[in-house]
Amino acid sequence: MDISELDKDIFEKIEKIKSHHGKEEAQQIEKAFRYALEAHGDQKRRSGEPYIVHPVETAVILDDLGLDVDSIVAGLLHDCIEDTPATFQIIEKEFGESVANLVEGVTKLGKIVYSSKEEEQMEDLRKMFIAMAKDIRVIIIKLADRLHNARTFQYLPPQKQREKSLETMEIYAPLAHRLGMQNVKWELEDLSLKYLDPVGYAEITGYLDERKVAFNKFLETVQSSILQRLEQAGISCRIKARLKHVYSLYRKMYGQNLTFSEIYDICAVRVIVHDIADCYNVLGLIHDMYRPVPGRFKDYISTPKPNGYQSLHTVVIGREGIPFEVQIRTEDMDQSAEYGIAAHWKYKDGLSGKQKEEAFAWVRQLLESQQDSDAEDFIKNIKVDLFADEVFVFTPKGNVINLPQGAIPIDFAYAIHSAVGNRMTGAKVNGRIVPIDYTLKSGEIVDIITSKTTNGPKRDWLKMVKTAEARNKIKQWFKKECREENIERGRADLERELRTALLYDDFQSEDVQTAVLKRLNFPSLEELYASIGYGGVMVSRVIIKVKEEVTRLNREKHGITKPVVQKPKAVGDTGVIVEGLDNCLVKFAKCCTPIPGDSIVGFITRGYGISIHRTDCPNVLGSMKKEEEAGRWIRTEWDYSEKHKYQTGLRIYTQTRVGILADVITVFSNAKVNVNELSARDDTEGHSILYITVTVSGREQLEFLMNRIRRCPGVVDVKRNINETGSGK
Ligand code: MN
Repeated sequence: MDISELDKDIFEKIEKIKSHHGKEEAQQIEKAFRYALEAHGDQKRRSGEPYIVHPVETAVILDDLGLDVDSIVAGLLHDCIEDTPATFQIIEKEFGESVANLVEGVTKLGKIVYSSKEEEQMEDLRKMFIAMAKDIRVIIIKLADRLHNARTFQYLPPQKQREKSLETMEIYAPLAHRLGMQNVKWELEDLSLKYLDPVGYAEITGYLDERKVAFNKFLETVQSSILQRLEQAGISCRIKARLKHVYSLYRKMYGQNLTFSEIYDICAVRVIVHDIADCYNVLGLIHDMYRPVPGRFKDYISTPKPNGYQSLHTVVIGREGIPFEVQIRTEDMDQSAEYGIAAHWKYKDGLSGKQKEEAFAWVRQLLESQQDSDAEDFIKNIKVDLFADEVFVFTPKGNVINLPQGAIPIDFAYAIHSAVGNRMTGAKVNGRIVPIDYTLKSGEIVDIITSKTTNGPKRDWLKMVKTAEARNKIKQWFKKECREENIERGRADLERELRTALLYDDFQSEDVQTAVLKRLNFPSLEELYASIGYGGVMVSRVIIKVKEEVTRLNREKHGITKPVVQKPKAVGDTGVIVEGLDNCLVKFAKCCTPIPGDSIVGFITRGYGISIHRTDCPNVLGSMKKEEEAGRWIRTEWDYSEKHKYQTGLRIYTQTRVGILADVITVFSNAKVNVNELSARDDTEGHSILYITVTVSGREQLEFLMNRIRRCPGVVDVKRNINETGSGK
């Protein structure tokens, strides 16, 4: 556009912003201004002004708030991606990644569709803003953008005025409040009230206008009397006097149903002093000067408001009979009250750690996933990832649905209603068909496609959904809709798994069934089947319990109990404790291949350390009878706290049958047990003997395997292998 057409005013504003910053930063600001000017070209605001006025005013607000140069530059460029040919890449190249991210963030926030809702929904919308902003500066820029737009609401058509005002009142003003930015909040509220309740607004402004002169005169007198009194008391202070903003009076009149004469704090005086002690001193002096209204004193210094606001408040009656509010606070408190989170940039050294912490209490409260990071860090890093674990999406009617990160349209459907989920056949996101396992993102509009003829949810949805709510509702459906089918499916699933785990026969025992049902808390086998059928209990979990109970019952039957282990430590990583020695060479005898669970004894060899045998090994019995060897036997035990694997041998007597070897091997491979050696020998009577060496954890496992092998057709007997001829000592 022709620059000469532009109001001089615009250039003065830019120069003023630049004057607040260093040379390099001023150049950045100038560059951004020129860029925006060029990009917006001949675009006009509804007011008829050149478009550039808006970004410049936004930047002025940001500069007043004291924001950093990146934010001001982003403020100047904030409508470029949306309204001009400029792209993220171009802005990133010209102004850096940080600015580009801010501009993009503001653009995204602008795309949130808004419609008025109940308070709960509004809170979710506000959270969505924060969640989508990622960087708190994005919200502040958006607030500045909205503030300037609100200042020019008069140029909008009436319908838009109401819509935008409502949005401002319900989203932007509360956000400003939560971020502690009082002045922005007040102005946004007053500007929107004008269109939301023009009559109420006119009533209050009319009343204030009528009395403006009188009130101002009154405030002037009060101000100078207080100043004088404090000077006498040796307290240095700054006093600000003002009339309360329109919306706060409006809330009192319409919310609390008060008349003007019942509102005590139309006039307000703020006394700003050096330290907290002076705050209380000033309070005493004021109460001495003016009659306090009982019950109107509030100490927000010792108990700050949730957004970190700190101040003493009291209401007193002036000499003219006019009541007024007095706020007393320190300079720091005043700065953070006016600028809130933005005070961090404006007064970098002005806020104490505690004040900062409190000023951002709300934001911190939202930082659920970052509870440990302290306020200092949070502010330093500015980039915030609030609600990293949540997404906020819209229904087509504009309701906000809050879901966990990673949620898919099925979760959304069930969050709306079970009937929607159960009839779901597909989903649209922002008008486009998406897969049902599409990962939802904040701000998206989700539309569930349903059909009355659908047969309910699919079983594999259970594995896809993210929310417990959806999972439960799907399970509920299967539970209710098809009990018979569930029982059949559950029975088949369990039987199949029992067979694979070689537990099918064990499970036929009534003892085992009773024990397992009790462990899993099911009243009957049928209920257990039904539950497996609709996904209420995982079949793998049932198998684990069956295995545990089978082992427990077997052990009880065979009287296998674990020996009490004493303090001594096992030698090396052998899992064996040798009496009196904790550092010696230990090996396991080849003749009897002992494993944990076997009773063992050690033989002190000549030069080969300790050899471990089973106490029932024939070699041990023979050796103990020999005088010269008897004294070399030493007590040993297993250390059951150690988990090792051991090789041991089995001897399997079978009828000679084709395929029997394969059957036996299958037992081991199903149990995931390693077979180390295998040989077979046929005897003369039509029998075979298989010699197998396997790696097991102990006797418990070995016995489990031996029981399995005994059940293979054609197996006559299974024994531990003992090699009587080898000495192995
Ligand atoms: Mn804008």
